[in-house]
Amino acid sequence: MADNFLRAGQQRLTHCAERTLVDGKDNQKAAELCVEGNAMHYDNVKRYMDAVKLYNRSIAYSTNGSQQRAQAYWERSKVCVKLNRYADCLQNIRLARATDVPGLLRRKLDQSAQCARRMMLSVTDDATPGSSRHGAPIKLSFPAYENAPHVANCLVMRRNPRYGRYLETNRALKVGDVVIIDDPYASVLEPEFCYARCDHCQRPAPFTLIPCEHCTKAMYCSKNCLKRARTQYHEFECALVHHLAETTGDPFVLLAWRAVARAIGTYRYNLRILKQRRHLLSQTEVNPLLFDWVDGQNIAFSAVHILASVARAPNDPVEARAAQLAREMHCHLVRKTELTANYDPGSVPYQWVGEMCYHFLKVMQCNARPAQLTRRDEPVGRYRAVPFALRCYPLISLLNHSCAPNVKCFDLRDSRCAVVVVQPIPAGGQLFTNYGYDYLQTGRAERREGLQRDYGFTCNCSACENNYPTAEPFHSKRVDTILRTRDLSTAARYMAKLLAEMNEGVGDGRVTHQQLAELERYFQLLYCEVLN
Ligand SMILES: [Zn+2]
Ligand SMILES: [Zn+2]
Ligand SMILES: [Zn+2]
Repeated sequence: MADNFLRAGQQRLTHCAERTLVDGKDNQKAAELCVEGNAMHYDNVKRYMDAVKLYNRSIAYSTNGSQQRAQAYWERSKVCVKLNRYADCLQNIRLARATDVPGLLRRKLDQSAQCARRMMLSVTDDATPGSSRHGAPIKLSFPAYENAPHVANCLVMRRNPRYGRYLETNRALKVGDVVIIDDPYASVLEPEFCYARCDHCQRPAPFTLIPCEHCTKAMYCSKNCLKRARTQYHEFECALVHHLAETTGDPFVLLAWRAVARAIGTYRYNLRILKQRRHLLSQTEVNPLLFDWVDGQNIAFSAVHILASVARAPNDPVEARAAQLAREMHCHLVRKTELTANYDPGSVPYQWVGEMCYHFLKVMQCNARPAQLTRRDEPVGRYRAVPFALRCYPLISLLNHSCAPNVKCFDLRDSRCAVVVVQPIPAGGQLFTNYGYDYLQTGRAERREGLQRDYGFTCNCSACENNYPTAEPFHSKRVDTILRTRDLSTAARYMAKLLAEMNEGVGDGRVTHQQLAELERYFQLLYCEVLN
């Protein structure tokens, strides 16, 4: 594969290099977006969040130090006032002042700042919605590995021909046990959330985002996140994120691109060492649970690099597309002079970067999982899961699929993901998660077709073997009320009671889907993002 790939890649290089790479800042467009934002902000419209997203896009499109940017910050500060967010208002005024060099807005900014300060004294709670009143931080239910503090030491990695690598427990696990809390290796926002959340930590920060100065896509909650993103990966993806988002619109591609960028960032441009590391990984049996996650460098890269991907025929459309995208990624990357200054185009490391792009694309197609928040939909008032990002986790990716899983992954508020037991697992049992095809919602034929297409296997889990029937979606007014009122203490009390019932009352039987759905709701309220 690598040989064909590189030959084809060389032919395409010239074509790509001619394409304009500037992800254009455009003050004219910034001004237009600001006007669009104002139309959402009028008193008879009051679509404040839509206004803020448009102002954020305006900020992202404007050039550093431009009047357009000062104007967009100023407009954003006015929305903050409407929503009683006075601290955020003052932050926007500070940002606007720093940009408003000719001082055109000075008087207005001074007046607003005075007013916001006065208002701040009269109110106490100015917190971001959803960030206040959280439960206690989540913890593993068992002692962790010394070298891997995010994994319970009862988990072991095994390997067999049917499952490849997989995770097993060496002690009996009960419902509610937390066995892994994993950090993402790479993560990208769904387009709808791009101008409302930090592109690095992915926290919601719509009122205070600041832009990357080189592209129109990435915005950050703080200078700290901007700096971290830049050194870890954004430097290598910045010129291409806009282009990829516009042409493919496929978050998987952006995720693969970010994973490659992070690998290069991790090895500080040294392609030779990166190549040696990859070679070593391909030659040895690797067990990520034994890596030194505390002091070890570049461990996450190694753990992600060894993840499985689906083997497909070269003429398969998915395969052909992956190869084509990898070529594009390669030719954009090698145009980064910092990266290629020490390598001529004929040299091995230079060409080998393309092969790595291809590898990561395939790995992401198979291992990325959507991060979800829980949102109340009006006017029906029911809660449902909404995907807001696509992420790849090094250890969670080792879990195999079952349509009736015994563990569930919960997306925590800080972008980590917790693996929680949802059916009792005996000692020696394998942990199974769900790849988006749950028997409760989807019939067997459709599940098997989807899993074969996306992951290349025929599912023979207990739900498929016994053809479990699908079920009506869970709904309970009592539980919804607890979520709507953010009643954490009741949620914690009910959850403890439910867990006791599940673990003691049911004996060897399966936990019912109503019990499970109720447990999920409480868990989400206590540890995840729930929006009303
Ligand atoms: Zn951030
Ligand atoms: Zn950028
Ligand atoms: Zn199945």
